[in-house]
Amino acid sequence: MTIENTNAPAATGANVRDHLVGGPASRVARQTTGVTGDWADALDGALDAAGMLGFRVIPLSVRKLPAIRSPHDKGHSCKGECGQLGHGIHDASNDPDRIRAMFDVARHATGYGIACGRPPHHLIGLDLDRKNGVDGVWELRKLAASHGIAVPRTVIIATPSGGYHAWWAGPEDVKVPNRAGQLAPGVDVRGSGGYLVGPGSRSTTGLYTLASDPEEVVVQPVPAQLLALMTADKERPRPAKKFTGKATGGRTLVGLVRVVLDAPQGQRNTRLYWAACKAFEHAGAGLFPVDSAHDALAQAAAAVALPDNEAAATIGSARRAVLGATT
Ligand SMILES: [Zn+2]
Repeated sequence: MTIENTNAPAATGANVRDHLVGGPASRVARQTTGVTGDWADALDGALDAAGMLGFRVIPLSVRKLPAIRSPHDKGHSCKGECGQLGHGIHDASNDPDRIRAMFDVARHATGYGIACGRPPHHLIGLDLDRKNGVDGVWELRKLAASHGIAVPRTVIIATPSGGYHAWWAGPEDVKVPNRAGQLAPGVDVRGSGGYLVGPGSRSTTGLYTLASDPEEVVVQPVPAQLLALMTADKERPRPAKKFTGKATGGRTLVGLVRVVLDAPQGQRNTRLYWAACKAFEHAGAGLFPVDSAHDALAQAAAAVALPDNEAAATIGSARRAVLGATT
């Protein structure tokens, strides 16, 4: 990777690191007065992120919010068409002049945000929280292990609260939704329309720093299976209905219904298929009527809020697999 450092005389690895973490080398050529060191560090970090990696950035306040006030009243729909600044992440740019202009307006900025989902990297962030007894790093490891996903080394940012951000390059044709805690506890996804706080930024809790190898500031492509998990359809938020059905097939069918009712999120459809196959095997052996098996499982699926069409397809394919197409 070619590193072009726009601010420092020498573009060495050490300089890159110092710039990314807001170290001493970033405190050069400070011509602006009346601003804090944090402001200048944030500007340096933003220029480096744009210059070295092509990231599109905006200035952030100490509360990690876009630092330029909107020129419009609340409820407007302008995304910058008016030509003014103050449209949050829609202002994000990798043009150094534009970045300096934004920081000139945002004199109280102490950080910068990197827009996700934009060329050239179509950045995706995994925000791994480690607080309140939840360890997002451990949860991500567990998730990867359970799906057999090899997670390559990529750029990692340490957050001031003890967590980490893992940066991934996404494909340009996939829109990754922003989600909190859906992949695993303590694991949030920052995708299209979101932003990540860049290294060298300061928030109320402290400094964001580069935690991965500063010699290899390469954003790795997101593993395909991880991307699939990030973009999987959300399970419906509608509340689960109480199971009111009667399993008329005796204890065996009741047990199979229980398998579906107890299924953890993400395994409901798999469990339903397994239970349906078992139920149809027993029904085929004459233990209870086929229709009883069908109805009990359909009601169990509804009780765990599986979409009706999905449940019908799953039960139907189990039925065909076990009993053939003619039943
Ligand atoms: Zn506007």
